[in-house]
Amino acid sequence: MTRTRIGNIVFELTEACNQCCRFCYNYWRDGSSPIAAPDPRLVRKTLRKLLSQAAVGTISFSGGEPMLLRNIHDLALSARFKGSHVNVLTNGTLLDGDAIANFLSIGVGAIQIPILSAEASVHEYLTGLPGSWARATDALRQVASVKPDGAYAVLVITAVNAPGVSRTLELIRELGVRRVMVNRFNIGGMGLRHRSELVLDAAMLKQAFAEVEAFATAFPDMRFVSGVCTPLCMLDVNPYPHIQFSWCSTDFSRRPVAVNYKGDVRFCNHSPYVLGNIHERNINDILNDPATLERYSGVPERCSGCTFLSRCNGGCRAASEQVYGSFAEADPILDGGN
Ligand code: SF4
Ligand code: SF4
Ligand code: SF4
Repeated sequence: MTRTRIGNIVFELTEACNQCCRFCYNYWRDGSSPIAAPDPRLVRKTLRKLLSQAAVGTISFSGGEPMLLRNIHDLALSARFKGSHVNVLTNGTLLDGDAIANFLSIGVGAIQIPILSAEASVHEYLTGLPGSWARATDALRQVASVKPDGAYAVLVITAVNAPGVSRTLELIRELGVRRVMVNRFNIGGMGLRHRSELVLDAAMLKQAFAEVEAFATAFPDMRFVSGVCTPLCMLDVNPYPHIQFSWCSTDFSRRPVAVNYKGDVRFCNHSPYVLGNIHERNINDILNDPATLERYSGVPERCSGCTFLSRCNGGCRAASEQVYGSFAEADPILDGGN
């Protein structure tokens, strides 16, 4: 059977996590239902199925917390054998030196760990896990010491930690890290409950990105990317040339597709809507189903006629799905998250 080529997949190994971040976008983490324990056998079966159907350029192991899977190294090795690049998106609290060494020997490309503040109390207020700051910073320092180009700090900017952005970047640099993802709080999951506390208005966003830009200008050996689209009518990105902003696309070849350990396929990791299951249908058929394409073809009413539409695409419309139950609305951050 010919394998479909897919550039990027976020593979969610489990819904479970040892943290309870106030901003967690995982749609299942809204407190409404119990979360299943990790299932290593099912993950292995689903990964095999996925890699039999698709030649995946980069597969990012995510969750929940992927380090809760005791067979995560075997899974990474399987993906590497099939020719995929593998990244690990982890909160870092369960990542020790042995686990890092194993990942490197397998050829894992990047390990991403959130560092939310230079202050433990702020980081742990946001993660809900005492001790998480020391463990996350220690893990990222270790990754940076053995694989500098694969160590990524993820700074999720919320209204809670925005005032300390510059100091947080200093800490990240002190850890030896030179690659930073700077993502604004994106509404969804547990973040729906805490949105009034976390959501940034336009002035706060501009201030936070101005601080990132100033830091990036001062330290040209560092790279900054911002992966969560912010509506261009809310944030003009021109004043921040040292931050590489990426944009969402409804074209599956230009955006990471989410697949979870059960085989459910979704638009992306923020979207709650299941398009199909790879144990029932081939992923190529799921992604190219006319109903799927139709679902993502609409233009939000407020965006029709906007000159930025082809680039901005209405911001993060998976957030719209979580907040309004519809992909046809523009990013809810435009209305303050309401
Ligand atoms: S954001 Fe990540 S670390 Fe935090 S609760 Fe969600 S899955 Fe866990
Ligand atoms: S496309 Fe929509 S969200 Fe984006 S800038 Fe235009 S009006 Fe704003
Ligand atoms: S819908 Fe939102 S989370 Fe999903 S790929 Fe686009 S910007 Fe990213």
